[in-house]
Amino acid sequence: MSEGTALVTGASQGIGLAIARALLERGWKVGICARRADGVARAAAELGAAGPGASGRLYAAAADVSKESEAKQWIADAIDRLGPPDLLVNNAGIGVFGEIGKLTTESWERALSVNLKSAFLCTREVLPAMRARGRGYVINISSLAGKKGMSGTAAYSASKFGMIGLSQSLLEEAKADNIRVTAICPGYVATPLAEKATVPAAEMIQPEDIAATVLYLLDLGPKAVVREIVIERIGAV
Ligand code: NDP
Repeated sequence: MSEGTALVTGASQGIGLAIARALLERGWKVGICARRADGVARAAAELGAAGPGASGRLYAAAADVSKESEAKQWIADAIDRLGPPDLLVNNAGIGVFGEIGKLTTESWERALSVNLKSAFLCTREVLPAMRARGRGYVINISSLAGKKGMSGTAAYSASKFGMIGLSQSLLEEAKADNIRVTAICPGYVATPLAEKATVPAAEMIQPEDIAATVLYLLDLGPKAVVREIVIERIGAV
């Protein structure tokens, strides 16, 4: 897919920031958000240096995409500034871990709301413009935890399995309009979210690997769609 307008949720750091940078370097117009305004401002300053004209092709704003009104407003403002969306990357997510017996209802709801509901809200918002133009791509960041439940990951896994279900249904509903959908399922990626993992950051998949995966998907011809990409980590540690 040639350069157009991309919206990346949760892009003040980590995987989202790496994806936004890679897209800007490729000449895309990019809208980013995160909840904390200071993080958004830092990311915007960093991304502004991603290449010639990058700062003019960037729209950065604080928004909590698990809240319907904020998701709608951020997307409307981004479209206003950058034009209709060609690509949505549903990346915003949080780690919520703990055994089921000890998990609070609030934690469960927060995981589902930030990691899954946000993707539904943002997707529903961009679909009309994508359908109208007969062109679009939605990339959902799931996880290896979305392929296999593990001890202590019930809420996180449920949200990430949900991302795969959402992706599959969306593809069935939208493919007639040439809208592609892919779920990316990485193992440990070296970001603040994985800071507490026992694996050292240097032994993890890097955020740039996920960004490169996004670029690879965009390089495919318009009639090819990859439903799911599972990215595992290798090494002895
Ligand atoms: P980080 O914690 O490094 O970054 C998460 C980003 O999302 C931040 O910019 C954060 O900013 C933002 N964010 C969180 N909640 C919201 C919200 N409600 N609305 C808008 N923005 C939000 O995490 P990663 O980069 O590691 O994770 C990105 C995605 O990749 C997540 O969906 C995660 O589950 C997934 N993933 C990560 C893996 C890993 O090992 N790191 C492995 C597999 C998948 P702020 O806090 O200011 O909102």
